[in-house]
Amino acid sequence: MSEPSPLPFLPFALPEIGDEEIAEVVDTLRSGWVTTGPKAKRFEAAFGEFLGDPALHCIAVNSATAGLHLALEALGIGPGDEVITTTHTFTATAEVVRYLGADVKLVDIDPATLNIDPALVEAAITPKTKAIIPVHYAGLAADMDAIHAIAAQHGLQVVEDAAHALPTTYKGRLVGTLGSAATVFSFYANKTMTTGEGGMLVTRDAKLAERAKVMRLHGINRDAFDRFTAKVPSWYYEIVAPGFKYNLTDIGAALGLHQLAKVRRFADARRAVVERYNEALADLPVMLPPDALPGDEHPWHLYVLRLADACPVSRDAVIEALFRAGIGASVHYIPLHLHPYWRDRYDLKPAQFPHSHHAYERMLSLPLYSRMTLADADRVVGVLRQVLG
Ligand SMILES: *Cc1c(COP(=O)(O)O)cnc(C)c1O
Repeated sequence: MSEPSPLPFLPFALPEIGDEEIAEVVDTLRSGWVTTGPKAKRFEAAFGEFLGDPALHCIAVNSATAGLHLALEALGIGPGDEVITTTHTFTATAEVVRYLGADVKLVDIDPATLNIDPALVEAAITPKTKAIIPVHYAGLAADMDAIHAIAAQHGLQVVEDAAHALPTTYKGRLVGTLGSAATVFSFYANKTMTTGEGGMLVTRDAKLAERAKVMRLHGINRDAFDRFTAKVPSWYYEIVAPGFKYNLTDIGAALGLHQLAKVRRFADARRAVVERYNEALADLPVMLPPDALPGDEHPWHLYVLRLADACPVSRDAVIEALFRAGIGASVHYIPLHLHPYWRDRYDLKPAQFPHSHHAYERMLSLPLYSRMTLADADRVVGVLRQVLG
């Protein structure tokens, strides 16, 4: 047994919550209105302003999972339909398709970017295919021109899983404004900004937005805050569909307003750590994570290091060594084709996803968050140089 590390544990991810967020939450708590209300509305407006596209509808929800579900529901995805996505993602990307009784076609990634391979998307299209869900893995934009071209040619909808991608640009334009049917961001605790739990569905399609707003709150045709603040008696509403309970609280929105204002600074702070990692690890038997195209923004939600084929140490042994040194690490993701539910439902074999599988066996995500110092990064580097050097 080695000695326990004398240094404090260095976690894999940590949110950065400042005094502004805390004051805004306290203000919400004192205001008497804690569920969806004025702050959620302000947060939606601020999000649209951040994306800089006045034609966008921004719909705050209590998770990205909820937002993806609402988007697909509004597009009419249902039993008998197929939706194509990557195996190299979190289960939320795909499970929402099953919520609606439709089926998932998983495809492999491009090993250079770890993003969905458009050629494999095209090869997976059948007469039942209705939509494609690209994931901007780690915050690196997927090949959206190719995906949109395939979608246009085959009459498919595109819903972007942008859970990692705030703020990401693709050829100079922010993800969220690329013209897909919908784009969904996550504000889960470890994402590039947080509302505790939360998400944002953005779309330019007014009908999709209208449907998603109704389904966000029980299928009610008028929201609770509108009724509460109306100047005339306003007890009346109508249920027009069996909706969901997916609204974001004003407590979450209070956090979101200030997190959004800091989201670029958070990304800059993570980028400084990424640059340190890149410099210090380049000569080890590893593959550094892919960067954005020149001129594009990468928010570095994750720093995914891959061990080279020639690396004599296993991924699991590297994670073990980091843990023994008091450093958290993770793996993003155990590909969907390996999970019992997805594997058994679609009879999936690793050989169908050689690139995702190869990456999975060699990858680990290093600690990366905005409050991390370069000294923290050097601690991680020190352990990696010991095990791999
Ligand atoms: C986190 C995540 C989600 C789900 O986000 P929630 O807000 O937790 O529902 C979906 N897709 C990807 C790729 C994620 O990383």
